[in-house]
Amino acid sequence: MVTEQAYQELKNKLHYYNYRYYVLDDPVVPDAEYDRLMRELEDIEREHPGLRSADSPAQRVGAAPAAHFDKFNHNPRMLSLANAMSIDELGSFDARCRRMLDNAAAIEYAVEPKLDGLAVSLQYSGGILQAGATRGDGDTGETITANLKTIRSIPLRIMPDATGYCPDRLIVRGEVIMLRNDFRQLNRERIETELPPFANPRNAAAGSVRQLDPRITAQRRLDAVFYAAHLPEEAMFATHTQCIERLGRWGFKVNEVERCPSIEDAIAACRRIEERRDALPYDIDGAVIKVNDLRLQARLGVLPRSPRWAIALKFKPRQEITVVKNVHVQVGRTGALTPVAELEPVCVGGVEVKRATLHNQDEITRKDIRIGDTVIVQRAGDVIPEIVRVLDERRSGREQSFTMPSHCPACGSAISLSKDAAVARCTNSSCPAVIRESIRHFASREAMNIEGLGSKLVSRLVESGRVTSVADLYDLAADDWRAFDRMGEKSAANISAALERSKKAGLERLLFGLGIRSIGRQGAAVLAAHFQGFEKMRTASREEFMDVHTIGPEAAENLRAFFDDPRNLEIILRLQKAGLSVQPAQIHTDCRLGGKTFVLTGVLHSASRETAAEMIRQRGGRIASSVSKKTDYVVAGENAGSKLNKAKELGIPILKEAEFLDLIS
Ligand code: NAD
Repeated sequence: MVTEQAYQELKNKLHYYNYRYYVLDDPVVPDAEYDRLMRELEDIEREHPGLRSADSPAQRVGAAPAAHFDKFNHNPRMLSLANAMSIDELGSFDARCRRMLDNAAAIEYAVEPKLDGLAVSLQYSGGILQAGATRGDGDTGETITANLKTIRSIPLRIMPDATGYCPDRLIVRGEVIMLRNDFRQLNRERIETELPPFANPRNAAAGSVRQLDPRITAQRRLDAVFYAAHLPEEAMFATHTQCIERLGRWGFKVNEVERCPSIEDAIAACRRIEERRDALPYDIDGAVIKVNDLRLQARLGVLPRSPRWAIALKFKPRQEITVVKNVHVQVGRTGALTPVAELEPVCVGGVEVKRATLHNQDEITRKDIRIGDTVIVQRAGDVIPEIVRVLDERRSGREQSFTMPSHCPACGSAISLSKDAAVARCTNSSCPAVIRESIRHFASREAMNIEGLGSKLVSRLVESGRVTSVADLYDLAADDWRAFDRMGEKSAANISAALERSKKAGLERLLFGLGIRSIGRQGAAVLAAHFQGFEKMRTASREEFMDVHTIGPEAAENLRAFFDDPRNLEIILRLQKAGLSVQPAQIHTDCRLGGKTFVLTGVLHSASRETAAEMIRQRGGRIASSVSKKTDYVVAGENAGSKLNKAKELGIPILKEAEFLDLIS
């Protein structure tokens, strides 16, 4: 049984969270936590209608406008959206709509991304933007006209469509957003100027547009996308999709809206949007399903908070709350020390998260992360989980600060700091942790792909003192492997065979496997194609390295330092003696490029044309200088000209740079 007091407490908590989120643009809990509490409140009110009060956050949209902005009255009211947390709830939504529409057999839906930004309304009259406002509590928002006018994608004047028509009066509703790249840039600048960074792009967009001084808004890169229109001649559109299409023609930025003949199709469309989520340049937190026919929308009507004809399917949250149990320091293969937070395991966006990188001491100090803290963790795209912020109000006083050690935790050697103090490094090249990590890297699937040589075995090898560099691996015979505890005959034979196979991996993988700082797989491939072996690389100057496309000054410096170190030269020599191939990968005549003729045109960014040609040749392909019927592929970089046109004329497959890289990878 829920007590009146518990209900009040829950309400107060949500009021406070609303205030932090909508008024201060500084939320103190992740959205998922807010959504859970809101669900709890809604359930209580449904089960105990007597408790329900008019001021309940479950009965209202957003929060009242802040006092320092002029008020703006919305007509019609700006609504929020009902949320579905699961597919089942979408089924119930569809059943309810069909029931209310005289048991309709199926309803056509329109499906679109749910942008995670700040809801705004724009008012046009005589085709000119007159006023713009935030949603506020739905009835009263904040007037932010001057700020909205600084956003370039907001039309100050409606563009007449092809028929020359432009509505005299129009209200449009949409979302002000900040692209993820602009958000990162803004946060970098804020950190440099010692201002607190924004928690996410939505808060950054809201904080930028709700400024008293429009000059500050003007400095921020904002965008706006629109998803609804109201005009006196509303009857001019029959459907939501028509309305969006018209908004696009009048000069508003709109998103793609997909028409779906049934709820099953609508659900499939939501899934497709979710799959594209990480590829979009901005954040979305779900997909919106709307009844497409506007007359049916009118028949279904609206509730105090949300329309009955629309529902948002929320995607898995990317932020969650958890506790920092401990902090440990990892030593990487380059000796770099990285503090890592050990977390109370928590599910974020469908993946269990147990650890989050803390990057360096600066990051720990800036975010003031202590052992025992309750924190918000986030996963964005494929990025390693990170701690967004500490929930200060949940501190008990027993939390412990953490400082990076002054000596390597693995070998006790002194630590050196990089010029900008961002990276701390162990100075001992024989540090067991450095050796262990470099062997793990060498054996990894992306490098030499030595099956069976997993992390635990590598640790045991290094601890035993038998292996101090990757070259030692090839000195071990099957009997030596067997001698390691818990290793059976078969496993030992398997490892020996895997090592034997790895000898043919080729120069690209070997170069990558050696773990030269700032040389990734792509860099290794380009270097292998350019130098064709270690011989020329050993003596190449910094400038000669920089002549290779994609190799910048830092990578060139690291390459030079690597080849200047006699220990590395000795390792390479021993690997060669052990029979490792130091030739670029063998030509595979059976691969997709074998025997095919390529023409390269335009500017490629990842490799010079010569290097790209070399990569094709190595894989058994041929290079031709002009396009003819015999050409199999034309690789078209930027500013490709006549050869591209010729290829189009002859119907020859054209590969963009990314497609070409895919083909050769
Ligand atoms: P909402 O964000 O869940 O959904 C409604 C809003 O979605 C609309 O008002 C509109 O602005 C927007 N929207 C985006 N794309 C749209 C589209 N294509 N069509 C129609 N609308 C579209 O609801 P809300 O009322 O704005 O905010 C509630 C949500 O905000 C919560 O679910 C929570 O996630 C978050 N919130 C978090 C906190 C916190 O403390 N973390 C506090 C308050 C609210």
